[in-house]
Amino acid sequence: MSTHGSTLDVPELTQRLLAQAYGLGFDAAGIASLGEPATVSAFEAWRAAGMHGSMAWLDGTGATLRGDTRRPHPGATHAIVVAASYGGRAPSGPVARYARGDDYHVVLRERVRELHHWLERTLGRPVNARPYVDSGPLLERDLAQRAGLGWFGKNTMLITPQAGAFLFLASLLVELDLEPSAPFEADRCGRCTRCLDACPTGALVEPRVLDARRCISYLTIEHRDAIPEPLRASFGGLIYGCDICNDVCPWNERFTREPSLPSLAPRMGFPASDDVAEIRAFARTLCVMSAAEYADTFRGSAIKRAKLWMLQRNACIALGNVGTAADLPVLEALCTHEHPLVREHAKWACERVGAMDRQ
Ligand code: SF4
Ligand code: SF4
Repeated sequence: MSTHGSTLDVPELTQRLLAQAYGLGFDAAGIASLGEPATVSAFEAWRAAGMHGSMAWLDGTGATLRGDTRRPHPGATHAIVVAASYGGRAPSGPVARYARGDDYHVVLRERVRELHHWLERTLGRPVNARPYVDSGPLLERDLAQRAGLGWFGKNTMLITPQAGAFLFLASLLVELDLEPSAPFEADRCGRCTRCLDACPTGALVEPRVLDARRCISYLTIEHRDAIPEPLRASFGGLIYGCDICNDVCPWNERFTREPSLPSLAPRMGFPASDDVAEIRAFARTLCVMSAAEYADTFRGSAIKRAKLWMLQRNACIALGNVGTAADLPVLEALCTHEHPLVREHAKWACERVGAMDRQ
């Protein structure tokens, strides 16, 4: 049967749509019909245990909408789910790889909109649709598994055979008859536990269960309070995010690709190295950064998810862990910072560096 306003039948349209997604630069694409996510009860149990920390947007209305993928966008029947690699082959460093390029929300939303425009041109009529890029009440990894893109790793990431797990997911919810892809049913983690063993803070409390309150990614990016002191030493030189449980994954070693879209490639200025001197230099730059420099330096970057004071708080922890006496003047200056949490973390770092220096 042909789709409304077009001579293409549903399988043909679906096939051409997926080809178009690959043509736009996505590494993986699939179709899922909407409904209740298979992982919604696990998600609710995780939330009820308080493991989402202070991410309040996961509660309230957001929680209700997440309970069924038909709810966020009225009329939508299917999701076109796409993934784009952000380049796991780049060296690790104090800023997680995903945040080194242009803001992925903007980059991916534009590409997903192109897919929407292609659909409307092809069908010769408007199509009710809405793009989501890590931005709405959708269990995106559940949707991606259902659309056949990959499986949930024990590190909670979606792992795809096409590009590993260093990737962004995006969805276009559409009111359109499409042919769903076969869900990805296999669990290819097997008996591996590398990610659980490698997590420096013990945040992966069991396979596929992440206690965000212990996770360096959550604590450095989302958490707007003091970093729990017992965890600080485990951060090492990490300042924004953490790639450790992805770095150790054998499937990433095998599948990871270069960034699929040019604007996801790293910008100048973010150290792509675990060299301590580079980490210290970057941390000091953050410590002395003004609000105007922050706005200018990180314009269009996902790193702005963290306010300047949060980056300075995180930089204090990095310097407290890998700094030397040469970093003390910068840290001491932050002991009078206007933000009380920056002051507290700077004092902690001064004491650590002073104690290390006396050893
Ligand atoms: Fe642990 Fe880092 Fe993975 Fe969080 S991102 S679970 S801290 S290894
Ligand atoms: Fe699965 Fe091992 Fe990768 Fe963890 S490191 S996600 S257990 S394959």
